[in-house]
Amino acid sequence: MSIAVYPGSFDPITLGHLNIIRRSASVFDELYVCVMVNAEKNPLFNRDERVELIKRTVAKYKNVKVESSSELLVEYMKQRNSKVIIKGLRAVSDFDKEFQIALINRKLDPSIQTLFMPSSEKYTYLSSSAVKEMTRYGADLGTFVPHEIIDDVVAKVKNEGMMFK
Ligand code: ADP
Repeated sequence: MSIAVYPGSFDPITLGHLNIIRRSASVFDELYVCVMVNAEKNPLFNRDERVELIKRTVAKYKNVKVESSSELLVEYMKQRNSKVIIKGLRAVSDFDKEFQIALINRKLDPSIQTLFMPSSEKYTYLSSSAVKEMTRYGADLGTFVPHEIIDDVVAKVKNEGMMFK
């Protein structure tokens, strides 16, 4: 059985992430989306909230599971019996960082392969930080995040007193 892991901070999940999840789930038997807790120091959503938002969004994909991990990614992968890391690439600017991380992971465990999946051209501009910024300005989030989570993102930004107006 082919099992892949798609790691990230997903703070929050965007339509760009969802696009990578949908395409990965169509070529692997099983896909684990893993919220990595150490990737960002001051996340908007805590680990459990991020997992819940993703779960709601991917409920229709029966071969996708959503978890979180505070361990090294290669350790998590061993536990899930997976040898493939999926990374989405938006632009050349993602490449430097992701290439370095891929080489480090290969040093840590040479049996694990990183596969880069180019972003759909519709979403190359999209990042979780842009979503947070747009939310603070009161922008319509419909073209940025899955509709199932729009209200949660707006409510969270409001509750944190982060709105600009
Ligand atoms: P962000 O930069 O949005 O905070 P994450 O750290 O959550 O993203 O990213 C997790 C993975 O998803 C990374 O492999 C990242 O390159 C990829 N990714 C993020 N946004 C997009 C997008 N719009 N299209 C394709 N891949 C993306």
